Amino acid sequence: MSERYDMVVVGAGTSGCYAAATVAREGYDVVIVERKTEEEAGHIACGDALKGADAFPEAIPKEKLEPAFTNTGVDHGRFEIPREDTVLEIPVPGELAVIDRWEYGRRIIQGAKDAGAEFHYDTVVQDVTQDDAGRVTGVRAKHEGDVVEYESDLLIDAAGALSLLQDKTDFSDSTFDTNVTYSQFCSAYREIIHVDEPVEWDDALVFKPTDRAAGYLWYFPRTSTEINAGLGFQMNEKPMELVDDLKRDLRTRPEFQGATVEDKLGAALPTRRPYDSAVAPGFIAVGDAAGHVNPTTGGGIAGAAYAGKYAGEQAIEAFETGDTSEHALWEYNRRVMDHFGARYAGLDIYNIFTTAVDVDDLMGMLGALPAEKLSEALYSGSANIGLKLKLQTALDARDHWRLVYDLYKTKKLADRVLDHYDHYPTDPRGLPAWQDVRDDLMDDVYATTGAVPKY
Ligand SMILES: Cc1cc2nc3c(=O)[nH]c(=O)nc-3n(C[C@H](O)[C@H](O)[C@H](O)COP(=O)(O)OP(=O)(O)OC[C@H]3O[C@@H](n4cnc5c(N)ncnc54)[C@H](O)[C@@H]3O)c2cc1C
Repeated sequence: MSERYDMVVVGAGTSGCYAAATVAREGYDVVIVERKTEEEAGHIACGDALKGADAFPEAIPKEKLEPAFTNTGVDHGRFEIPREDTVLEIPVPGELAVIDRWEYGRRIIQGAKDAGAEFHYDTVVQDVTQDDAGRVTGVRAKHEGDVVEYESDLLIDAAGALSLLQDKTDFSDSTFDTNVTYSQFCSAYREIIHVDEPVEWDDALVFKPTDRAAGYLWYFPRTSTEINAGLGFQMNEKPMELVDDLKRDLRTRPEFQGATVEDKLGAALPTRRPYDSAVAPGFIAVGDAAGHVNPTTGGGIAGAAYAGKYAGEQAIEAFETGDTSEHALWEYNRRVMDHFGARYAGLDIYNIFTTAVDVDDLMGMLGALPAEKLSEALYSGSANIGLKLKLQTALDARDHWRLVYDLYKTKKLADRVLDHYDHYPTDPRGLPAWQDVRDDLMDDVYATTGAVPKY
């Protein structure tokens, strides 16, 4: 069986639904192919923290999503550092909500349907088709044991982290970023937990380091009695040992005595810079499939929504001009870098820094840094500190001067990386030269931090 659409989207997550809604509402034929059943679609492993909900793309209006926002009273992060006997309260800029993720998932699917997109559930994409020139022409999928062929002018890869589509596509004649390895990903796992008594921190996102350097725990309050408890860890750690860390912490916290677990889910998520290029002839990757996640917080919903919007708008332009070449799709890369990609690439430098330092030392130093500046650095990728504050910080962090100095040098490099991304090329021909300069900067980052090269 073979079907033909203007655009085929693989994956009914945030990025896929926003891409589909953007294009379908302009009257084009769009299908979303999703491996999950209709009932299960939208049920995605997540910490349920939605940042930037105030400014979501208009293709699926915020009003349609709002009923899934179960806690809009969260305004800060609470960083528990047991070894230092410290709790850091760090403000989170912008609008923040903790959501019922499955309900949110159903609502974005409904939003894309309302815009005119078709949905084929229970359909697992297994292969990508390309013509002799290398242009992507569609996918081959399986539905209830039958092979279904989809043909399209443009294929949107919204299949999430470590997308199978990228293993199946020959990108050798394109700029598409194939420098992707497991060390650039994190595994994450979460449980939805009910407690009888309201927790005291229902206005905060709670973070805590695990006993092992490469992981962190979180407790995000969907309501004051329904908590998303989870952990993220680098893929090179042993998952079960880290899940034990979560279980142990849950047992020791009095607020979780007698709690019941409702749901358990885990998945991979990228903790890397965005793909240098996420386009190839007839193909655009969006969201997790293109590394559009804040690598320091693991927040990827907002990036996925905007990547979906930009991919959708690029698709419409390509359909209008009849040109789906890499050159014609390039502006999508540029818009992603301009909006959030550059910032995420800058933040990735701090990620690299943390892989090379002693976790006790790091936590001690963080405890001595000014909270509002940490917040600024966490979300904007950089922070400016005045002289008086610098002196005070230096005094407070005197036990960690060496590390503070290393962080200072790393910040200088992160700022240079950020600046370089401001000069992201305007067409594919400029990419190799731009990458050469960026890679030289990365060599300086590895030399300064002592971290194992990640790319
Ligand atoms: C445990 C965990 C906690 C997280 N916490 C947060 C958080 O608190 N806040 C936040 O903003 N972000 C968080 N993230 C990241 C966030 O969930 C992702 O960045 C976001 O969901 C990415 O959306 P997406 O549309 O790109 O991909 P996804 O939401 O992963 O959607 C991909 C879709 O593609 C489908 N699919 C995959 N392969 C195929 C195939 N071969 N055929 C057909 N369909 C296929 C999948 O079934 C899925 O429906 C977390 C991630 C994890 C794993």
